[in-house]
This record gives sequence, C-alpha cells and structure tokens, in this order.
Amino acid sequence: MTSRAIVIGGSIAGLLHARILAEFFDDVSVIERDALPEAPDFRNGVPQGRHVHALLAQGQQLMEKLFPGLADDFVEIGAPRLTWGLDTAYMTSGGWLRRYDTGIQVNQITRIALEFLLRKRLQKLYPNVTFVSDCVAEGLASNGSRVTGIHCTPRGGETETKLADLVVDASGRNSKAPEWLKALGYEAPLETQVKSYIGYATRWYECPADPPDWRILFIQANPKRGILRGAAIFEVEGGRWLATLGGVNKDYPPTDEAGFLEYARSLPTPVFYEAIRDAKPLSPIYGYRIEGNRLRHYEKVARQPDGFIVVGDAVCGFNPLYGQGMTVAAIEAVLLREMLAKTALPLPEGFASVFQQRLAKAIQNAWLLATGEDLRYPGTEGTKPGTADRFVQWYTDRVLEVMPYDETISHAFTEVANLTASPTVLLRPSVALRVLRHQLRGSHHDSSDSLSSVPPRVTSTTT
Ligand SMILES: Cc1cc2nc3c(=O)[nH]c(=O)nc-3n(C[C@H](O)[C@H](O)[C@H](O)COP(=O)(O)OP(=O)(O)OC[C@H]3O[C@@H](n4cnc5c(N)ncnc54)[C@H](O)[C@@H]3O)c2cc1C
Repeated sequence: MTSRAIVIGGSIAGLLHARILAEFFDDVSVIERDALPEAPDFRNGVPQGRHVHALLAQGQQLMEKLFPGLADDFVEIGAPRLTWGLDTAYMTSGGWLRRYDTGIQVNQITRIALEFLLRKRLQKLYPNVTFVSDCVAEGLASNGSRVTGIHCTPRGGETETKLADLVVDASGRNSKAPEWLKALGYEAPLETQVKSYIGYATRWYECPADPPDWRILFIQANPKRGILRGAAIFEVEGGRWLATLGGVNKDYPPTDEAGFLEYARSLPTPVFYEAIRDAKPLSPIYGYRIEGNRLRHYEKVARQPDGFIVVGDAVCGFNPLYGQGMTVAAIEAVLLREMLAKTALPLPEGFASVFQQRLAKAIQNAWLLATGEDLRYPGTEGTKPGTADRFVQWYTDRVLEVMPYDETISHAFTEVANLTASPTVLLRPSVALRVLRHQLRGSHHDSSDSLSSVPPRVTSTTT
C-alpha cells in the first residue's frame, strides 16, 4: 500500500521536513497557500522574507547534511562565504568581539534565495515530493482515533480531503492547529509567551565599491544601559547589503527615510550609520513588528492524535533578533529523521506524542537563550527570572564583559550563539575560571571611544 505524508506550508520548516519524509514515505505532498515563485522572490505567506535572516552555523551544517552540495549552490549564486570573527564585526553589551579566525564558516544568503534553493534541490532529488501550491489547508480529517488527512481548498476551487498517514503542520506562527485540534475534540496546547515587542526596519542597499573589511555587522542592544536598539548589515548574494534596524520593548524603528537615518545615528556606535549614509538604496524601507517569543506546548497535551505533528514556527516562534528559527527547524527535521529511521510504517500509536516531547527538549536551549535575553529588558512581558535564571544572567553579563579580551571565551560564546554548542559550555571550568580571572584583573572597561570604530582583525591568540 502506498504510504503518504502531507506537509502544510512550503517554507523553510516545511521544505526540510518534506525532505526527511521523502526518505520514508512513497508520496509526500507539500500544501502551500501561496503561488511558488520560479526565481528567488517575495511572497505574501513569508512577509519576513524582506528582512535580514542569519543562517547560523548549526543550521547551515544540518542543511548541508540533508542536501549535500547546498553550499556550492550558495556560492554559485554569489552568497558570500565568511568566517565568524574574521569577517564579522560584532558588538555585544561588552564591546566589540575580537576579530580572529574562529574556524566557523557560513554563507550569507537572503531568506528568499535560501528557500528557493532548498525547494529546487528537493524537487530535483526527490520525485516523490509534489508541491500543491495556491491551496489552503482548512482543517484536519480524522477517523475518530487518528488524523487521516487534511481538508484543503485550491484557489478558486472546492474544498477537498487529501488522505495521509502522517500530516506535518509547518504553517508558521499563524498555524491554526490549536483550532483544528479543538474541532476534532482534542485540547489546544497551552502557550508560553515572552513578549518583548520587537520592531524591524530593513532597507536593501548596493554593496559599496570600496567595502569595509567586515561582511556582517552586528550591533546588539544593551539592557544594562537601557539601550533598546540594535542593528545589522549582512552582505548577501548579488553584491547587496541588507541593513536592518531592530528595537525591543516597542522602541520600533521608523520606516520613513529621515526617521530611519536618525534611529541609525542614535545607536551606541556610528559604524552602522556611517556605512549606510552614502550607500545606494535598492529598496524602500520595510517594517515588521512581532510580539516576541511564543511556545505552544504540544508536548504537554493529554491526548495528542496520532498521524499529526507540528514543527517550526507553528510550535515555537522566537524573537528573530537571535537568528534561530531556521536552524531550529533543521534540528527538528533531523530529529524526525532519527525517529522515523527507528520505526516501521505504519507509524505506531504514540509516535506523534513522543515526537512532540522530544522536539520540546531539542528546542529548549534556543528557547532559553532567546527568552533569557529578552527578559533582561524592563518592558518584556513574561514570567520574571527566578534566582537561578538571575545568576545565569549575571554570569552572562560577566562573560560579555570579558569576551573582547579572550578568544577562548569569545569562541565558546560564538558556538553557543550559532547553536553548535550547548550554553553549558560557558559554564565549563575552562571557561568559567577564565571569566573569573578577567574579573579579578579588571580586564573590562566601558570607554565609549572604543566603540566608535570596528577593531582590526587579529591573527595571534591573546588571553
Ligand atoms: C522579521 C523576522 C526576522 C527573522 N530572522 C531570522 C533569522 O535571522 N534567522 C532565522 O533562522 N530565522 C529568522 N526568522 C524566523 C524564520 O523566518 C522562520 O523561523 C523560518 O522561516 C521557519 O519558519 P516556518 O517554515 O516554520 O514558517 P514560515 O516561514 O512562517 O512559513 C509558513 C508557510 O506556511 C504557509 N501557510 C500558512 N498557513 C497555511 C495554510 N493554512 N495552508 C497552506 N499553507 C499555509 C505560508 O504561506 C508559508 O509558506 C525571522 C523571522 C522574522 C519574523
């Protein structure tokens, strides 16, 4: 008998999960409400596509494993390959990080091109995957004990039912899965929200003819000093810069030209403003607002129907400032592969429930990183940190303060931020003792002069 899987949503999480399902199911359908462009282009279902999207090292490594040669596709379209440290200018609340060769390499690519390349590879390599575009999933079909498919409506057509052994909801933050489950008599998952009220304003520029020696500029806000504003410039394919201003706690960056420039001038370092001041704009200024982090606890529902799982932003949407969403989607896809590899079809009873529990564990670090950081800002709504969390925040502050002076600590932080290492590496004695030593030495200082320009690259290791 033909085994079938359906994925709702043809964005990053949907594509990565379809890739996994294609290994195990005879027939995989990706149901996407948008028309899918024949070239990298914006579409309504992914409004965030106009904004900077960092692909963290862990995300790129996992995607490369799923689609060997993907990095070559990136290079072919001109997405710069860069080394964290050497090619990045990264200012945390502790100052600029040292610019040395971390050995951590990534390509910087627009969100629209990444999605396009993943889709093309999937279509080429897996003929058992079919894209059903211009079609909206409206609800779940069930036989009373398990989900058996979806109800969906093609644009301008009649609602129909498509049957499947497994339905994967990858429809993003606006997922209707809780309502769909309730309609079948199941409970909706509880939600945890940490609302930091983030605003983005992004403009695309031509990369200048005489570019700086960094290819990513990243300026973090600083809760300790009440600075709610940050910014980033990413060099991407096509010789373009994506320049984004971001504010938390409703300090939203304006989308008019004068306001955009003024906000840029108000950052704790002039580097962003000086970079864009004379650069040639290629686009209007696009705005985006989002409440913050939201986690739906599918792992805690008393009764999870078999035949249905939820992934990607549909489960957990993060404050995008930390660049985690696409990488977390890749982590989840790899988890699904591990579980399917150990299971024969038809999927046994309880598979969906175990998957959601393991997913919740797999994304825990990313959730704690994003929400722990957001909760430092006074206007963030959410459960305030307990004593242990406050200690972690205090310790993180010390780490940030001394990172500019120590490559070992800086390296550990870079790995954690790229999700290639667990945050616990920052607590290892080899790191913690160095943090303490710098504290005793008083290695850190607060001079705003040192923030005014990007530090030069360094080649030697200094402690
Ligand atoms: C401003 C912003 C900046 C971000 N920056 C980063 C970053 O730097 N790095 C990073 O890793 N992540 C970032 N993210 C998060 C990232 O965009 C998502 O995590 C990533 O796209 C994966 O999301 P997803 O595939 O689960 O959902 P989405 O990308 O939201 O896609 C959902 C898909 O489902 C489709 N769909 C929805 N409902 C239906 C339906 N009923 N029927 C059929 N189709 C449907 C939509 O059309 C869409 O294609 C950012 C997000 C925002 C908002």
